[in-house]
Amino acid sequence: MSIRFKVILPYLILTLLVAVTGVYVVTKLVANTLNERLVNQLLEAGRVVSDELVRQEIKHVETARIVAYTTGLAEAMLDDDRQAVASLAVPVADGLGVENLVLINTKGEEVLHLLRNANGELEPVDQYTGAANSTIVQSLLSLGDAESAPWRSLGTNLVDGRNYYYTALPIPLKKQFAGVVLIGTSFNTILPNLKNTSLADITIYANEGQAIATTLRGNTVDPEALSELSVSEQSFQEIVRADGLVRGENFSLDGRWYSLAQSPLEVGGDRLGAYAVILPLNYVIQSSAVSRNTYVILFALAMVGVVLIGYFISRLIINPLHSLVTTSRAIAGGELERRTGIQSSDEIGFLASTFDEMTDRLHQRTLELERANQILEQLDRAKVKFIQISAHELRTPLTLILGYAQLLKMKTNNDPELSGYIENIVSGTRGMTEIVNNMLDVSRIDNQTLNLSPTMLHIDSVIENVFSKVKPVCEERQIDVRAEDLKELPPISADPDLLQKVFYHIVTNAVKYTPDGGKIQLTGRVVNGSVNPPQLEIATRDTGIGIDPQYQELIFQKFYQTGEVLLHSSGKTKFKGGGPGLGLAIAKGIVEAHHGRLWVESAGHDEENNPGSTFYVRLPLSQNGNGHK
Ligand code: ADP
Repeated sequence: MSIRFKVILPYLILTLLVAVTGVYVVTKLVANTLNERLVNQLLEAGRVVSDELVRQEIKHVETARIVAYTTGLAEAMLDDDRQAVASLAVPVADGLGVENLVLINTKGEEVLHLLRNANGELEPVDQYTGAANSTIVQSLLSLGDAESAPWRSLGTNLVDGRNYYYTALPIPLKKQFAGVVLIGTSFNTILPNLKNTSLADITIYANEGQAIATTLRGNTVDPEALSELSVSEQSFQEIVRADGLVRGENFSLDGRWYSLAQSPLEVGGDRLGAYAVILPLNYVIQSSAVSRNTYVILFALAMVGVVLIGYFISRLIINPLHSLVTTSRAIAGGELERRTGIQSSDEIGFLASTFDEMTDRLHQRTLELERANQILEQLDRAKVKFIQISAHELRTPLTLILGYAQLLKMKTNNDPELSGYIENIVSGTRGMTEIVNNMLDVSRIDNQTLNLSPTMLHIDSVIENVFSKVKPVCEERQIDVRAEDLKELPPISADPDLLQKVFYHIVTNAVKYTPDGGKIQLTGRVVNGSVNPPQLEIATRDTGIGIDPQYQELIFQKFYQTGEVLLHSSGKTKFKGGGPGLGLAIAKGIVEAHHGRLWVESAGHDEENNPGSTFYVRLPLSQNGNGHK
């Protein structure tokens, strides 16, 4: 994951988290506030309804009193003069806007029953309506008390089938009880009034929970429409017994949701029934939905803003880093003249300028090293040239010396002392010739002018030749030198003389660095690599002093010798005998000219325990040997 995402992702997740929590909390708060507002409105509506009912009661009582105290009415009631009662009561009741008036005499007979019809006219009712049998009238009749307090109830008028709120009051004649006046106002009149003042819908319950009137469904009195709004008898009893308003369950009616609170319908200490104040919920639901949507949009916008700002901030930080990364990649790829070019005074700017300075210095050093290397290469070329020239120059006189020395030797055969001296000259000159030849080989390898004349050969014949040269000294120093399993090896295409030189150097080294009585063993095998073509591997294992791992690469460089040259013994096949440090460089050059590989493995240098060394030569079995021209 790139750093850009590492910076932006947590930022994005955090912002999202804050936004979601924000929307949730704010929506919750709004919903709570709306809910609280709803409850308050319900409470307020309940209070208004209860006040309004009290006002209605006062109006009833006042109206009843005016009727009862109409001059002559009480007397006419007692005299059972129905005509007089009607002539006195009708104008008063009409003037006061009474909807339903029943006057009952002391015997419990309806003396006058007036009911306002649909046209707003007050009409006498002839039929028996049973109003005189209602509990409140019967109670007053049985008391027979002219000063009795008013009684109220809810009831249905059998004539028009409407539900009424009734108030009954005694008709007094001085202290004498002259009958009962019953005033009723239909809920069809009361409810719209209650709705207007409370700004809520109202349902009235009576008779064990039956809804008897409601402002819902267009002020209906239809029993079927009302039955849906009725409550169970048990909940009705609970409401009637409650202290004030009780929050009811939200309900849906005709596809709309409502919230309601119910309360006992109490007038002057009488609990006549119950009522419910009802508020539509849609505005709460809508408002919370609207506010939620608004907040979601607001938070989403804020989030987009925050993320954009975050993105630009991260760009400010990351872009220079990005340029630093691309520049460092380019520099690692060798473009040392590349610079970041970042010019800012912050930490990244500091990092970039330090990086540029470092690159400057690196560039400088590299140029210096390149120059030094060029000089060294020139010097090396000069050295090789010098070796080549001097080797050439030395060869001719050496050949002459050797020739004359051998001639002299033949002539002095009779003089053993002189013959011994000349023998020393011959062997010294041979040694020098070998060194000169080695120098020429090295210069050919360096100049890549080594000429290969490959033929198919068996490696064991090459090794045999080498052995024949070292056998005398090995016998003298009791070194057991032997080859194993070489005869079974397949032939290879190689230059026999050059290959002989390779093993000559390797084996003479093994002899040189193995103490007397040691062992040198040559083994061979065919290596079938998975990638490379099959190769012939010859391992030369000795029980000598070993080679420190740090020199195991270096010894293949020309003129490289481990240890102090002056401490070497003088004989070239003597233990730790000296040499110019050319043998392994020549061997490696020849093996590589054959597309092969030469390396050494040794546990380390230890002249007491003699861990030994193993030199490996690998030559391709199917190579054509034309590596050097
Ligand atoms: P030299 O003329 O000194 O033998 P070489 O190139 O043949 O030069 O060898 C380089 C050095 O490698 C030697 O000086 C010697 O320290 C080390 N070396 C080569 N062969 C062996 C061996 N078999 N065991 C231990 N050291 C060896």
